[in-house]
Amino acid sequence: MEEANVALSTKQRDSIRRRLRTHQNGKCCYCGQVMRTGKLGSPYAETIEHLQRRADGGSDGIHNLALACRSCNEGRGTMNWLVYATYKAGELSI
Ligand SMILES: [Zn+2]
Repeated sequence: MEEANVALSTKQRDSIRRRLRTHQNGKCCYCGQVMRTGKLGSPYAETIEHLQRRADGGSDGIHNLALACRSCNEGRGTMNWLVYATYKAGELSI
């Protein structure tokens, strides 16, 4: 089923965060660092990451979302998420 690309409510975001946090054991999907919640200023603050960027037409559906630390989220730029994940794992030098 297609998921509508609409903005998520705070309640939906909280629910998604909880599900993803459990699924990822609270670790960043890129660097594996345990993320901080409620500390937005920390480089390891938990952020919701769109795997396919919204700018590229990515949806807010849970299959397109993961939790990443702020540092990784901001460091990714326009890179494809899989390329970035491989890079962060140290398997690429770019
Ligand atoms: Zn990270």
